[in-house]
Amino acid sequence: MTAQLRIAPGAPVLAFDVGGTDIKATVVAADGAVAATVRTPTPAVSDHIVDDVLDVLAGIAARLGGSPAAAGLALPGIVDDDAGIAICSENLRWRDVPFRDRAAARLGLPVALVHDVRASTLAELALGSAAGCRDALVVTVGTGIAAGVIVDGRVVVRAGYAGEIGHAVVRPGGRACMCGNHGCLEATASAAAIARRYTEDTGHAVPGARDVLDRVDTDPVAREIWDDAVDALAFGLSHACAALAPEAIVVAGGLSEAGDALLGPLQRRLDAYFPIRSTALRRARLGGDAGVIGAALRARTLTDAA
Ligand SMILES: [Zn+2]
Repeated sequence: MTAQLRIAPGAPVLAFDVGGTDIKATVVAADGAVAATVRTPTPAVSDHIVDDVLDVLAGIAARLGGSPAAAGLALPGIVDDDAGIAICSENLRWRDVPFRDRAAARLGLPVALVHDVRASTLAELALGSAAGCRDALVVTVGTGIAAGVIVDGRVVVRAGYAGEIGHAVVRPGGRACMCGNHGCLEATASAAAIARRYTEDTGHAVPGARDVLDRVDTDPVAREIWDDAVDALAFGLSHACAALAPEAIVVAGGLSEAGDALLGPLQRRLDAYFPIRSTALRRARLGGDAGVIGAALRARTLTDAA
């Protein structure tokens, strides 16, 4: 799907996006052409997962070949892009890993680290639904919830914590969150939470939020969970709108595939929670490859500066 994508001309770079299930990788040529993304399974969680991930990255780099001038590496969890540190990942179970320097040593290339949601944000800002915005949010609603915050045309990092709206409480005393708190936005309204809530409340296991959405017209439990998730998302986003006054909010991640079934009601609830200034919701344009494209754009910041 990214075969035809193109970023600005510049040095050739390598890009990786490490997720919970797979590692996406691509190369960007000097003319800016983005090659088709390749996927490799993420190593299983273990005491040596960091070394295992670095081995996979080195293997992919060898396979893709070429002469990249730098690499960009997008990681999940909490990531300090500027310091090059993966602060933590609940899913991959690492903490305070100097991933930038370790990947640079393993790959023999300068490496730029970036949080996966900020990577998607860079891509949507350069090529997608946030193009032309000076101030915007790109909110990823998938397994978790986090936002990329664009202020004055730049994606802000704040030591890795800018945009962690998924762990702000929207339902005090609500469902348990993997961060240890209760009632976080992520525990209420992420795609994973919607599916989990339905399974818990009905005893009927569903694989994803899409299955809950498909039932809303016929199943009152599905309707209640969906409406509550949309309401919680709008509530959380209304506070971000009040603080930042973005021109637009781009909705990305698995739940954004629901399209107007999500964005229509979400826009109405958002306007109800923050009526003094409407903020337009837009659907993300780049889909699942946004993270790896954003990692390439981060890598380019190393080569453009050189
Ligand atoms: Zn939380």
